[in-house]
Formats: sequence, C-alpha cells, structure tokens
Amino acid sequence: MARGVLIIDRNRCKGCELCISVCPVKILSLDYENANIKGYQPMKILSPEKCIGCCNCAVICPDQVIEIMKGDTNHG
Ligand code: SF4
Ligand code: SF4
Repeated sequence: MARGVLIIDRNRCKGCELCISVCPVKILSLDYENANIKGYQPMKILSPEKCIGCCNCAVICPDQVIEIMKGDTNHG
C-alpha cells in the first residue's frame, strides 16, 4: 500500500536521475517514451503503490519537481 503519493511537475524535470538513485524501493525511472517541454525525458513512477513516503526523491531533486502527499492508504 502506498504511504506517499508523488505529485510530479514533469515539465520542470531535467532527467538528472538523482531521485531514481535514492529511492529505496526502486520505483522511479525515466520516461524513455516521452519528452517534456524542455526536451528532457522526465522521471516517472513505475509502481506508485509501493512508495513508502520516505521523501528521499523530493529532498534530493535540485529543481523541486516532486511533492509528496503523505497518507496511510491501508484501508483501501
Ligand atoms: S518517497 Fe521514497 S519511496 Fe516514494 S518514490 Fe520517493 S524515494 Fe521512492
Ligand atoms: S531529481 Fe528532479 S530533476 Fe532530476 S530526474 Fe528526478 S525529478 Fe527530474
């Protein structure tokens, strides 16, 4: 069950992969099939339900692309 929900401002992402490198559950990747308005392949979430809400990705992002909504969704 997801313990955090990511809100990604895709058009601000520069595809630096820092967030991908610090995610403990390895659910982040670049979106190799799409580019944002800057021409970068932005980060995307592969398995949102596995997010543990640790905020590592949001903290390390140099461009404040990621916001995390914390929540306990155990009830469904
Ligand atoms: S909050 Fe933590 S677990 Fe969730 S995507 Fe970011 S780094 Fe991964
Ligand atoms: S750290 Fe930020 S800018 Fe870099 S890939 Fe992740 S979301 Fe994009």
